[in-house]
Amino acid sequence: MNRMEFSRKTKAAIIARAAGKCEACSAVLKPGEGEVDHILPCALGGEPTVANGRLICRVCHVEKTANDIRSIRKADRSRDKASGAIAPKQKIRSPGFPVSEKAARRQAKPPLPPRQLFAPAAIINQHTEGK
Ligand SMILES: [Zn+2]
Repeated sequence: MNRMEFSRKTKAAIIARAAGKCEACSAVLKPGEGEVDHILPCALGGEPTVANGRLICRVCHVEKTANDIRSIRKADRSRDKASGAIAPKQKIRSPGFPVSEKAARRQAKPPLPPRQLFAPAAIINQHTEGK
């Protein structure tokens, strides 16, 4: 897919909308300063439209681009894993289904003995009298 840059008309509309301020951090920009940015990156399907564009300062743009690259690479990996281009690192581990009912009974652990929830009064009195 080819990169779709903003048209001159779209850029002009975005710059006019920003009114001399960074649309991310609202820093005041000099005329000609600021960069028109794809809100949703082009590589992730972002269109070069006024709605998907914003004027941001250089500092914000560098930071956003670094994050965009990270998410684009993640999308690439997910797509490649789903298509089978990347082999899974290991087999999915699970105990699996028991072969027969007899084998399942053999594997089953005996139930735990019932736990006493309340101690008899005599034991509680022993603990409190010791102090
Ligand atoms: Zn900014």
